[in-house]
Amino acid sequence: MYKTFKCPACGWVHVAIPLSVAEAQICVANSYLASEGLARTETLENYSRCFRCKASSATFVPAEKGDAPAGATLQAVVVPGAYQC
Ligand SMILES: [Zn+2]
Repeated sequence: MYKTFKCPACGWVHVAIPLSVAEAQICVANSYLASEGLARTETLENYSRCFRCKASSATFVPAEKGDAPAGATLQAVVVPGAYQC
């Protein structure tokens, strides 16, 4: 189960994924885009900021139960120090 974190600037809740998982997702997404003749637009930067207000994920705090509505879709981010691998 991945950990959830909240952006202290706007309150948006995200799910933290390990850096290696983000890198794999970026590779898959960019490979797909390239296969369609599109620019490779996925970057680690996309996973390092609040999806809503663009604050750095380094400022995120652990989310509390009830911070996000049940069933809400959470954006994936990389939070420094979230996982010890
Ligand atoms: Zn935010």
